[in-house]
Amino acid sequence: MAKGKIKVESENIFPVIKKFLYSDHEIFLRELVSNAVDATLKLNVLSKTGDFKGTLEGLQIEVSIDKDAGTLTVSDNGIGMTEQETKQYLNQVAFSGAEEFLKKYEGQTKDSGIIGHFGLGFYSAFMVSQKVEVQSLSYKEDSQPVKWECDGNPEYKTSKGNRTEHGTDVIIHIDDESKEFLEEDRIRGILDKYCKFLPVPIKFGMRSEWIDDPSGEKDENDQPKRIETKVENIINNPKPAWTKKPKDLSEEDYNSFYKELYPTTFEDPLFHIHLNVDHPFHLTGILYFPRLKNNIQLQKNKIQLFSNQVFITDSVENIVPEFLTLLHGVIDSPDIPLNVSRSFLQEDRQVKQISSHISKKVADKLASLFKKDRDDFASKWDDIKVFMEYGALTDEKFFDRIKKALLFKNSEGEFFTIEEYKEKIKESQTDKDGKLVHLYTNDPDGQHQFISIAKNKGYDVLVLDSPLTPHFVQFLEQKLENTSFTRVDSDSIDKLIKKEDAAESNLSEDQENELKGLLENIVDKQQYTVQFEALTENDQPLTITQPEFFRRMKEQQELGGGMMMTGNMPDMFNLVVNANHPLISKILIEQDAEKKANLAEQAVDLAKLSQNMLTGEKLTKFIQRSVALID
Ligand code: ADP
Repeated sequence: MAKGKIKVESENIFPVIKKFLYSDHEIFLRELVSNAVDATLKLNVLSKTGDFKGTLEGLQIEVSIDKDAGTLTVSDNGIGMTEQETKQYLNQVAFSGAEEFLKKYEGQTKDSGIIGHFGLGFYSAFMVSQKVEVQSLSYKEDSQPVKWECDGNPEYKTSKGNRTEHGTDVIIHIDDESKEFLEEDRIRGILDKYCKFLPVPIKFGMRSEWIDDPSGEKDENDQPKRIETKVENIINNPKPAWTKKPKDLSEEDYNSFYKELYPTTFEDPLFHIHLNVDHPFHLTGILYFPRLKNNIQLQKNKIQLFSNQVFITDSVENIVPEFLTLLHGVIDSPDIPLNVSRSFLQEDRQVKQISSHISKKVADKLASLFKKDRDDFASKWDDIKVFMEYGALTDEKFFDRIKKALLFKNSEGEFFTIEEYKEKIKESQTDKDGKLVHLYTNDPDGQHQFISIAKNKGYDVLVLDSPLTPHFVQFLEQKLENTSFTRVDSDSIDKLIKKEDAAESNLSEDQENELKGLLENIVDKQQYTVQFEALTENDQPLTITQPEFFRRMKEQQELGGGMMMTGNMPDMFNLVVNANHPLISKILIEQDAEKKANLAEQAVDLAKLSQNMLTGEKLTKFIQRSVALID
């Protein structure tokens, strides 16, 4: 029996490991299974070099629980360790045997998928245990089995072990505070989270399966009798789609992998991007475009980050640009540093490169889909526009790459690129100052009246109804020269696109003042500004508009970002009086004060009604007044 001391520098580290190594204690299992995977994959390497002559068949990892003994065991039939190696590798915190191995076999380990480099992995077992026991037998000829034990003090012991086949069992004696890790469901959950796509089959427990009775017995219908048997339960898929070559995968394979990632999702994704980079960093993965509709909050945090097929996290902010977190799928890169704090990640050079590579790939994919089949692209537009806008708004380079594929949809359902649309409206929608005015609606039903007025005038109206529209139109105004965006309901038609200086009002100043006083008795003066315009008799007598600038500010504030302001901004409106409308003259001529006020109120209510703004008591009164008027 040998006794030794875990290296001095680790003297004080156990209490630290126990408490702080990972705030998430469940991670110990990920670490131990990763070590077992490494030990197994190393045999592949050694077999290639001729150092290992045994079989590579049946390599697998087994996780098991013994509730009575209070232990959890991770077993592998990998390379194992000699006594000397247990001392060397298991005793020195932050001394990673994996790194040494990789150095020694440099060149041959490429693509071997070996995971280790966290360095503290094995020690995380002490977060949940009072004692860790290792039984190991090295693959090397004439090796002796060894048993290594340590109870969390820097003291460890080695003695003769009991393994007869090469490989290692790590037996953890779960401590009192960590009993949850003796529960089958808990362990299954952890394995499913972190180990679902590890490259070596992992067995946990048994599963029932119905098979034909091997004795050949028949049932009453002369069919082979079915019996229930227990079979080994492999909990992982060792060869997930992203590790394969795109040419070996069909559309269906991609979609079924999507279901494997998100078992509760029913919709197929719109399309996918298979990532595969070797230089200057390693990155594989598949990103999926979900159907976003106008929903940006719900969809976030679906991308899963892996390192050599070990699940790391599903919060990838700081690693990819924020807008990409709207996508789904997996990214696997051993080059993303995992042992630094999240806030440092963003600054990491490698991470920056990875992040911009992904943005570029995604942008290129979008641009190529547009080129390849424009109609198909347009048919998906409503599901991807939020993503395109989000990307354009937050990433200059992304915008440059996709701007030719950005589409405008008009109220007729036709699609245009920015350039095409410019050509279309150039003639009719350039104002007197040479600005190209894009009219838009965010609610074709609600703003129907305004849209039809604009159309009658020969204008075209875009449908811009994404939650990012207020920011996006502002952004386009900055990017495109001499261009402005105005919502159809933000002003009266002749002011939306000013062609010449406004015609003079037919009303005298006294008359305007009288009407102004009358209307300000009806509407809230703080909220409404009364304005006069010389429109035609066919236009409405009174119209309520909300100035583009003002509404946009408010929307941006509600979305967050855009403006630093506390509290909600109140709504502000213009009450536009059509100076040429007969009803306005009628109100002015009316001598009876009560009738005059009634008429004015009726006109205001009609304007509100057409904007869906008349509710409650005001609506009831309006109806009563209307009935009286008909009588
Ligand atoms: P890392 O995995 O980052 O190298 P660990 O502390 O988890 O660090 O493990 C230290 C070393 O112990 C490993 O590099 C490996 O050489 C050895 N080791 C751990 N677990 C096993 C195992 N199941 N089989 C063989 N060797 C192992």
